[in-house]
Amino acid sequence: MTQRIGFIGLGIMGQAMAGNILKHDHPLTVYNRTPERTEALREAGASVARTAAELADASDVIILMLTGQEAVDAVLHGKKGLLAGDCRGKTVINMSTVPPTCSKEWATKLAGHGITLIDAPVSGSKVPAEQGTLVILAGGTEEAVRAQEPLLLCMGKKVIYCGASGSGSSMKLAINLLLGIMMEGMAEAAHLAERSGLNVETLLDAVASGPLSCGLFQLKETMFKTGSYPVQFPFRHMAKDMQFVLKAAQENGARLPLGTELAELFSPDTDPSLLDQDFAAVKTLLEKA
Ligand code: NAP
Repeated sequence: MTQRIGFIGLGIMGQAMAGNILKHDHPLTVYNRTPERTEALREAGASVARTAAELADASDVIILMLTGQEAVDAVLHGKKGLLAGDCRGKTVINMSTVPPTCSKEWATKLAGHGITLIDAPVSGSKVPAEQGTLVILAGGTEEAVRAQEPLLLCMGKKVIYCGASGSGSSMKLAINLLLGIMMEGMAEAAHLAERSGLNVETLLDAVASGPLSCGLFQLKETMFKTGSYPVQFPFRHMAKDMQFVLKAAQENGARLPLGTELAELFSPDTDPSLLDQDFAAVKTLLEKA
């Protein structure tokens, strides 16, 4: 039987991911808090729900791609939220980056409503979301994850099963810690090179030609060359995620000297003008200092 898909959260990522579900011919209903953001998908053939509850009624599987835990809570428990709709026996796939403890708590709570929850955050940013090449990090029962793998593969090139509920969220935080460290590393290398009278393009060529070459640096190459940081992965989301990383480290007794330093750099208080730029704009903090 064809699954009816509901998609909530049509921001930078959700807009592209929902578009890819539509391209695979799944019946799709979308909902977004700001209704204007549903227009492009409506024109592409999606139905638009006026509330999350209405979307629940029209869907068998419901995907969430929202900012963080407050947004997910609002969508689940709001007055016309998902739980006010017909959800029993359905699957919710939360692809938002949230703390693992939240994923575990929601899984237990939703199970009480007869809902299966999968936590499935993604590795990859705006461009992989558009290309359908995200890497999907899934937690929940293996049976539930495998059952949704064909749907997930409309949005990504690989689904990695990480373990029980919360494991996808835990994996995402480990990945984003590495992402932040790599980005800060490249920013510092470029800053040192420039201060030493080198051309940043030559540095990028040297990195790309050797064993340090990687997709992340290729994606951000133009930003480093031009010093302009149009948003793909917002600085504000990295700041949010670093707080989740520190919380997870504390809960699990992990020592993260670089992560602790990084959380201070990627902080909402560092420089409010950076929040809506790409997180590669962390380089400008070095220049200002
Ligand atoms: P975004 O562009 O900021 O979109 C956030 C979405 O959440 C919007 O649809 C927004 O609705 C909705 N939202 C926020 N608060 C809400 C609330 N209280 N109630 C209902 N809806 C609410 O974010 P994004 O970049 O697409 O990221 C989405 C998630 O993916 C985040 O968890 C992020 O960390 C993660 N992620 C992002 C990237 C990336 O490169 N951007 C990469 C990997 C993972 P409105 O339109 O009404 O504001």
